[in-house]
Amino acid sequence: MINLVLFGPPGAGKGTQAKKLVDNYHLVHLSTGDIFRYNIKHQTELGAIAKSYMDDGNLVPDDVTIKMLETEVNKHPDAKGFIFDGFPRTENQAKALDHFLESKDMDITLMLSLQVPDDELTERLQKRAETDGRADDADSEIIANRIAVYKRETEPVAEYYRAQDKFEAIRGTGPIDEVGNRLRAAIDKYL
Ligand code: AMP
Repeated sequence: MINLVLFGPPGAGKGTQAKKLVDNYHLVHLSTGDIFRYNIKHQTELGAIAKSYMDDGNLVPDDVTIKMLETEVNKHPDAKGFIFDGFPRTENQAKALDHFLESKDMDITLMLSLQVPDDELTERLQKRAETDGRADDADSEIIANRIAVYKRETEPVAEYYRAQDKFEAIRGTGPIDEVGNRLRAAIDKYL
């Protein structure tokens, strides 16, 4: 079993790369952002809670996010492994994930951290606003807040995995396929 955390700031290419890795390694892809957006679209109670935070570019509270993630993992008892995209985003979430996986005799294999300079992130998010129609990509203040929240609350999570020797930094710039090759090379070292 292989369980990957795909990590990086908003616009680093986590979603794009996760979709490719799923095909390569036959993993279940869990994107907390996608799951929240699905809930917002279908007007669920969870969606209403998440929307109030996402609209401003803030994190959805840990208790809500962790419970949702655990429910999603439990929907796939036969999975060969998971790729967590956009989770964990706080140290609390990382600890809760370890604890939860341990209870299922599973663990995180590796965190892959996509490195992209800030100016390129903003450019990518503004471009994505035109194609994907995400409200949180369309406003430069919300983008700036998401990047600030990432630096303040999420970036420290890298240290949590580094301390466990489960951290690989990957250059996230250049052609999509080349970033994919770098990710696969890093993963294959752990298989
Ligand atoms: P993403 O699609 O990963 O960019 O996430 C979009 C938004 O969903 C974020 O800006 C947060 O508001 C929320 N979100 C996604 N994942 C998490 C998480 N692990 N913890 C808290 N909020 C999250």
